[in-house]
Amino acid sequence: MSKGLLIVLSGPSGVGKGTVCTALRKRVPELIYSVSATTRQPRLGEENGVNYFFKSQEQFLDMIEKDQLLEHAEYVGNYYGTPRDFVEETLNSGKDIILEIEVQGALKVKEKFPEGIFVFLLPPSLDELKDRIQGRGTENQATIEHRMSVAEQEISLLQQYDYAVVNDEIDLACKRIESIIIAEHCKINSKSK
Ligand code: 5GP
Repeated sequence: MSKGLLIVLSGPSGVGKGTVCTALRKRVPELIYSVSATTRQPRLGEENGVNYFFKSQEQFLDMIEKDQLLEHAEYVGNYYGTPRDFVEETLNSGKDIILEIEVQGALKVKEKFPEGIFVFLLPPSLDELKDRIQGRGTENQATIEHRMSVAEQEISLLQQYDYAVVNDEIDLACKRIESIIIAEHCKINSKSK
């Protein structure tokens, strides 16, 4: 049996990774989602074990120590990481899994899983990105400025990815990613085989 595909959806904060990922999972229900661990506080409506595994700093450091994370990154003052076992078990069972993570983490996954499919989600423009981060209303001005400067550095790493998808419209962006997954499954020398 061939392994599943590891799909990494990355790109700057505010580009709409979460929204696109949620819409994509509805469109492709067999796609398994990797729930990350984080030390950030839950936002309104977020649930433990669904959106994230919310951890204290101590618990998170313990996960790192025990090598339970495939990758982790510090992002705007909090830790985020991908639980390793779930990803490996899913791939070994032949199912596709999607990781929705920031750029540093995505590049660490690439070192360990070069056979992964790395998709960079782009905003239509930087102005549009700033509007989206501000519009979310969950961040203060200093955090917005910080996220924008991180975003510009992140976009400069685009060349290290396999695919670039512009998130001009959610349905269209999902359709493009779904097409990438279908095409990757049709490859003669698929990266997952
Ligand atoms: P937020 O706080 O807005 O939920 O997420 C902040 C950033 O962390 C987003 O870019 C999100 O994609 C990223 N992120 C979420 N989970 C992980 C993870 O497990 N690892 C890494 N490296 N980044 C993550």
